[in-house]
Amino acid sequence: MKLLFATNNQHKAQEIQDILNKDYEIISLNDIGFYDEIPETKQTLEENASEKARFIYNKFHIDCFADDTGLEVEVLSNRPGVHSARYAGPQKNSDDNIIKLLYELKYESNRKARFRTIISLIMDEEEYLFEGVVEGSIIDHKRGNSGFGYDPVFIPKGYNKTFAEMSLEEKNMISHRANAIKKLVAFLRKKNYS
Ligand code: IMP
Repeated sequence: MKLLFATNNQHKAQEIQDILNKDYEIISLNDIGFYDEIPETKQTLEENASEKARFIYNKFHIDCFADDTGLEVEVLSNRPGVHSARYAGPQKNSDDNIIKLLYELKYESNRKARFRTIISLIMDEEEYLFEGVVEGSIIDHKRGNSGFGYDPVFIPKGYNKTFAEMSLEEKNMISHRANAIKKLVAFLRKKNYS
């Protein structure tokens, strides 16, 4: 089955394709020749995921899904959350975001954080939401070179490696996005869409 993923982020599209088995072929917006920015103007992950999926659905009239993810740090009242990509400014630079985060946590002993992903699926005109979470903590310096975003400073609970020190396979076993995708796939199976 083909699934249109409302993203222009090839890294994310690949990550999700790796999580899914061969029953599903992920098609990204690049694959259908759409390179514009998708609007992302809301104040919650749920609303943003929904806005992106609806925008693409209304434009192409193809069943599709979109995701939105945030890093929620307990002592920062769940910031940066929905603002994770632009935490340090509109340039959306991961190094700048990490520098800002580590500065804000400099004197904090509570390092608890979690990644939370919301997927909005639009299928046969109906919308369905799926949530995936991974709990963990923020360390005080960067470790590892793989992954993206906040991966070098996030250690998932029960591990002693950051996401950036894990292989993509290891990260995909436990990540927030993987957990949300597993729920999406379980839903599709139940509906007999595969
Ligand atoms: P998006 O909604 O998936 O685009 O994620 C928003 C921001 O959250 C990204 O720009 C990254 O900074 C961060 N983020 C999302 N997923 C991950 C991840 O798997 N690892 C590290 N950072 C992530």
